[in-house]
Amino acid sequence: MNTAYKRIVVVGGGTAGWMTAAALATALPGGSVELVESEEIGIVGVGEASFPSIRAFHKLLGVDEAEFLRATNGTYKLGIEFRDWRAQGERYFHTFGDFGDLTGPHALWGQHRRVNDAGLGALHEQCLPSVMAGQGRFQAPSEHGKLFDYAYHFDATLYAPFLRKLALRRGARRTEGRIVDVTRRADGGVDQLKLADGRVVEGDLYIDCSGFASLLLGRALGEPFVDFSHWLPADRAWACPAERVGTELAPYTRATALEAGWAWRIPLRNRTGHGHVFASRYIDEDCAREQLLRQLDGPALGEPRLLRFATGHRRRVWVRNVVSLGLSSGFLEPLESTSIFLVQSGLGRMIDLLLPGVAPGESQVAAYNAGMVRQFARVRDFIILHYCLTARRDGKLWRAMMTMELPETLAFKIHAWRQSGTLYQYDEEGFDATSWLAIHAGMGHWPERADPSLRDLAPDAALRALQRRRDSLAAVVAAMPTHDAYLRDMTQQGTR
Ligand SMILES: Cc1cc2nc3c(=O)[nH]c(=O)nc-3n(C[C@H](O)[C@H](O)[C@H](O)COP(=O)(O)OP(=O)(O)OC[C@H]3O[C@@H](n4cnc5c(N)ncnc54)[C@H](O)[C@@H]3O)c2cc1C
Repeated sequence: MNTAYKRIVVVGGGTAGWMTAAALATALPGGSVELVESEEIGIVGVGEASFPSIRAFHKLLGVDEAEFLRATNGTYKLGIEFRDWRAQGERYFHTFGDFGDLTGPHALWGQHRRVNDAGLGALHEQCLPSVMAGQGRFQAPSEHGKLFDYAYHFDATLYAPFLRKLALRRGARRTEGRIVDVTRRADGGVDQLKLADGRVVEGDLYIDCSGFASLLLGRALGEPFVDFSHWLPADRAWACPAERVGTELAPYTRATALEAGWAWRIPLRNRTGHGHVFASRYIDEDCAREQLLRQLDGPALGEPRLLRFATGHRRRVWVRNVVSLGLSSGFLEPLESTSIFLVQSGLGRMIDLLLPGVAPGESQVAAYNAGMVRQFARVRDFIILHYCLTARRDGKLWRAMMTMELPETLAFKIHAWRQSGTLYQYDEEGFDATSWLAIHAGMGHWPERADPSLRDLAPDAALRALQRRRDSLAAVVAAMPTHDAYLRDMTQQGTR
């Protein structure tokens, strides 16, 4: 029980709200956690691809993987296949595994000198989960000496109800109602929430998970929005589920670059999620809708739904007695499925500050805010990297992306890679050096000069080592079960 905040009120019952309620009820047993949500308003209901960190979150909650996959029609996600990003017809994988010793000097030699050597193949053929993705196979890595990581795809409309059950079992309470007014305390914090039917909800700490409405932090407290749209102009998405066709189940998300944005394809057990994220300044909504419908690989299951969003984040995400998590704190286009990861990160840091049982001081809150703002900026830079290295010239979006002025932090990283092959990492990076390498390599972006130490490497011996690694990975993966078969087996566990 937290003595500083006896009553914690979570506003909103989407993915962010129920993640928060479940985590608080687990980490602070005996405390008072009340979640207010409105079925009439509903949830955003998109967000079907996750990041490997979700597994640590599930571990903390004690979630059983098979039960979760069954409840949410979930599948495994090894990473993302990017199609047509550098040029039409090209593709590469960004998966959650490494390239062996390829990130060292050996790599630079291999990439820089032999990139056009047909015998070498693509860099992603040196990465175990990318090879698995390419062959449509899956097998969970052993926890000891783990060779790669993985995440999940799931039905976003089923995930919040799954967590809700768990949170309620652990003592969280749910209040159904539409908040129509928010009153303030003398110090500017939130005092009470007024519901449409006249009831009042009161807390000591409020967690704003109200989605794009940002009811407490944005509307009531007026915290300004830091706009990233000059770097990431996508501001709309059409989303449409489609029938699952064929028996193959891809263990990865696909992101296909289109004229003014990109289309996602997310395989679930019962259907396939499709969407088109686009910049309305470069394409009109009807045209974007048509482009999405051409991407569906089965008949549509309903009409496409339009979502509008702004890219950026609130200047501070913890202000007085309000902490904002999820869409209410900010949003970056879902190219690398980072929203749920950012919720999790904010949640973990917040719980660390709540655990001692005393209200965090100003400097701790300031550090929390600085950390979260840096995380948004790091993810922003990583997403921009996918666009700005393009060689496409076939649409205004692509021409704008390759000539725009980059954030300084990203410009420095690109310079360091180009000049010396250094994969520079700042603090608070959500993506490690291997992930950055995957995008540079996939976009055909190599250092201008080889590292001087590479002169000592015997080119033919290195080439043979790389070929051996590629061939042995392909053989190991060929013996693994298909994703579909592995998943069927896993989801039947405990039900036979
Ligand atoms: C197009 C698109 C694709 C995305 N894809 C991904 C992805 O692949 N991976 C990923 O990690 N994330 C993705 N996201 C983000 C992801 O959807 C969200 O981060 C996640 O669903 C959390 O949403 P939320 O809980 O913050 O908001 P919501 O789901 O919108 O929940 C808001 C809650 O607040 C309640 N509420 C609002 N106003 C009131 C009121 N007045 N009174 C009472 N209750 C109220 C609502 O009823 C609801 O319960 C995507 C987002 C978009 C827009």
